[in-house]
Amino acid sequence: MYFNILFSIFMIVESIVLLKTGRLGYELYGSFYIADYKYIISLLFFLFGIYSGYQAYKSYKKQKINGKYINYSKCPNCEETYNYVDLNNGICPKCNIKTVDIDEFYK
Ligand SMILES: [Zn+2]
Repeated sequence: MYFNILFSIFMIVESIVLLKTGRLGYELYGSFYIADYKYIISLLFFLFGIYSGYQAYKSYKKQKINGKYINYSKCPNCEETYNYVDLNNGICPKCNIKTVDIDEFYK
């Protein structure tokens, strides 16, 4: 989740750097001069950055319930553990009832 946001920022920064300099990568470990393709490649980077940022935002919104961020949840009936983001509105696919935050479950 945080990785996705970092990745998104990195892609957008890289696309701007590429657009300004025509170079991809950093001096430190070698860079490629791709001025001929800089517009198309920086556009792709930019769009990819926006897309992964949007994905991160979407999963964040989906996992944040009543001001609390839920990673894993457990079904009170079958006691199955789920990645909250994989569930549809936090509903257990087997029992069709609402799952609870794993921290709440073990309280
Ligand atoms: Zn269940």
